[in-house]
Amino acid sequence: MIKKIIIDDEVCIGCGACEGTAPDHFELGSDGKAHVKKQYSEDDKETIEAAKNGCPAGAIEVKEVEDKK
Ligand code: SF4
Repeated sequence: MIKKIIIDDEVCIGCGACEGTAPDHFELGSDGKAHVKKQYSEDDKETIEAAKNGCPAGAIEVKEVEDKK
């Protein structure tokens, strides 16, 4: 299993907080929604967790998914 950052487009309000907290992993697109810039890495887990917890819309999820490699 690997961990993956998932952003719900429908829920994201485009506030940019996640990008401010974890700019390596999140970026605000021209569509006004946050996108995953770089996927989850254990090295940045605290920053990613902070971005997830700081999302006012609750649009960010960190999910364990099957590694399809
Ligand atoms: Fe969207 Fe949440 Fe990021 Fe704000 S913090 S841009 S609502 S995903």
